[in-house]
Amino acid sequence: MSQITIAIDGYAGTGKSSTAKAVAKALGYTYIDTGAMYRAVTMYLLDHNIPFEDNSPALLAALDQIHLDFRPGKQVGDLEIYLNDAPAEPAIRDPRISKAVSPVAALTAVRNLMVAQQRRIGEHGGVVMDGRDIGTYVFPHADLKVFMTASVDIRTQRRQAELALSGIDPGFEEIQANLQERDKIDSTRAMAPLKQASDAVLIDSSGISFEEQVKTVIQLAESRIQQNNLPPQ
Ligand code: C5P
Repeated sequence: MSQITIAIDGYAGTGKSSTAKAVAKALGYTYIDTGAMYRAVTMYLLDHNIPFEDNSPALLAALDQIHLDFRPGKQVGDLEIYLNDAPAEPAIRDPRISKAVSPVAALTAVRNLMVAQQRRIGEHGGVVMDGRDIGTYVFPHADLKVFMTASVDIRTQRRQAELALSGIDPGFEEIQANLQERDKIDSTRAMAPLKQASDAVLIDSSGISFEEQVKTVIQLAESRIQQNNLPPQ
């Protein structure tokens, strides 16, 4: 039975990562958090005082030094990102990274490197990848594309609760300003901006529970898997 590729894109704080993780677990697929990759690169550049200047010799030399990989996490089936052989979680969730990540993700040298790695990871299917450009750019032929949105207040509340679990609380106002600022930069950048793919299924999670959200995506995935495995007419 062939395995499909599932792309989950959308605005910041819409629950893409938790949905993608739950869907991957239910299907026995690999979940890849591409936002974590951009966050890890941002952490490296900040820690090494590298200016965010596209294609500059300093940036290109720094990117050459960055090695990212995903390794089994604490929970069975979970993968966690490693930056140069060290776990990058939860440091990459810190507000200093959230503030800088969208300008870094707008650099073409950074995106080209990340996209190449993402395509290698997903080339054989069996992945659920979440991000901003997975269905439009990384895997434009993905078997299932989902685009997630929710009201900004709901997204802020959810993100605040999520950060609290890691002991981080920058406050409602700051979290909301960051979500809006990132959405603006992500949607207006020149390369692979955040937008809904024309063939993506839109899910507004404002009024539905997390369980309903996950169930909807699993049902969509199961029907695509079935279609893919039908014998040719
Ligand atoms: O998913 P998360 O909110 O952690 O992503 C952090 C940032 O990484 C986004 O705001 C965006 O700037 C960038 N990103 C991206 N393309 C992706 C995934 C994330 O530009 N595929």
